[in-house]
Amino acid sequence: MTELSLPDSFWAASAPPAIETGRLEGARRTDVAIVGAGYTGLSTAIELAGEASVTVLEAGEIGHGGSGRNNGLAIPTLSGPDPDAIVRAWGEEIGERFVALLRDSASHVYDLIRTHKMEGAGEQTGWIQPVHSPGRMRVAESRVEQWARRGADVELLDADRTSELLGSPFWHGGWMANTGGTVQPLAYTRGLAKAAAGLGATIHTQSPVTSIKREGSVWLLKTPEGELRADKVVLATNAYTDEVAPDLRRSIVPVYSFQMSTRPLSDNIRKSVIPGRQAVSDTRGDLHFFRWTDDGRLVTGAALFFKHNPTGRLPQHVGDRVLRAFPQVGEVSFDYIWHGFIGATLDKLPHLHVLGPGFFAWIGCNGRGVALASAMGPVLAEMVRGANVKAMPIPVTEPKPIPAHGLATRLAPLEVLRRRFNDAREPT
Ligand SMILES: Cc1cc2nc3c(=O)[nH]c(=O)nc-3n(C[C@H](O)[C@H](O)[C@H](O)COP(=O)(O)OP(=O)(O)OC[C@H]3O[C@@H](n4cnc5c(N)ncnc54)[C@H](O)[C@@H]3O)c2cc1C
Repeated sequence: MTELSLPDSFWAASAPPAIETGRLEGARRTDVAIVGAGYTGLSTAIELAGEASVTVLEAGEIGHGGSGRNNGLAIPTLSGPDPDAIVRAWGEEIGERFVALLRDSASHVYDLIRTHKMEGAGEQTGWIQPVHSPGRMRVAESRVEQWARRGADVELLDADRTSELLGSPFWHGGWMANTGGTVQPLAYTRGLAKAAAGLGATIHTQSPVTSIKREGSVWLLKTPEGELRADKVVLATNAYTDEVAPDLRRSIVPVYSFQMSTRPLSDNIRKSVIPGRQAVSDTRGDLHFFRWTDDGRLVTGAALFFKHNPTGRLPQHVGDRVLRAFPQVGEVSFDYIWHGFIGATLDKLPHLHVLGPGFFAWIGCNGRGVALASAMGPVLAEMVRGANVKAMPIPVTEPKPIPAHGLATRLAPLEVLRRRFNDAREPT
């Protein structure tokens, strides 16, 4: 069987080694099977490991999906709907429950990092969303008002303060969620895996689940070399969902996102660009995002509508963007370039599903999954324990395949053009 390896990313080059794991071989039994070793699967495993036998099956290595490849911005919001819109969409009870989960989601990440002593896995320095046009200060004001009303630790930043915090007058003001921050995404995933294993969970890597079927009163999960019988199943595959759950796979559009790290920058530049090392992503739909690594690299990237070309337009395009925002960097060269898939839903909201008796899944991070996927572990654990689905913070629905999914997936990169068009206009 060919092995699925991690991408050649800065995260893979700098994360502490993963715990030893092996493939699933032969026939095994477990109380709870979790498919996917990312933030969702591993945070669910941490919740349940002390009270049930838990087995995690991962197609590649730990962190093979979004969890090992992302930009590492721990952001306690969605990328789309703001709190009032979430409450309008889901009603007062469920909506406010979800907004509270989201508000506390980034702190949950840093609690996990502290509790399980994950050295170097992240810093809670805050998340800044600078606004890219003067009219969008109204967006920042509204977000601060909506989150402050729900007890979130947020502040509005005028243009001068934003410029001081970012080391650049490129933006027009913004706002900050003080509970946000950055993680080294793969170090954090490996830390979660170590914690889950330490609590008794079994993790098998290079063990792609090829089918999940009901067999009497249990679920039978097959991998190329083994089979696992389980009372309950959590499908934690998110944007990397394959034909094991075809309707779920077709309920999102996987969107390519490219990431790249600069070579280490000088001390002077480190002191002048985002000197407080916050996570930064702005109000553009064609998102501009930046964060520091421990060794003084900026990690940034882009979603593109043209074909990925690591030696040509992509680094040039993103390098120019870095220089527009931070001219003091002087010269930009990237030594790692990698990419991954983001799971986008049509309503820009996450979806929670019961796929059969004792079989649960959520999907649709829409680019904000570091904090949210970590916070979904306790939710999925509650569902495994048999909690009333009506008490969950997301409405439980059937997966709805997107019509003409293949075409929607092929056309998804063109969405960047629409976003650039919107970015260039002031909101009405
Ligand atoms: C390039 C990029 C940048 C991003 N940047 C940010 C960011 O800065 N901030 C933020 O909040 N979010 C970001 N995200 C989103 C975030 O990474 C994801 O939402 C989050 O990692 C989802 O975690 P997860 O555990 O639910 O899924 P994943 O980490 O994707 O894990 C799913 C796992 O399931 C496994 N799998 C799939 N099918 C099978 C099978 N049949 N059998 C066994 N295993 C299987 C996959 O191999 C994978 O490891 C980014 C995503 C990408 C791709």
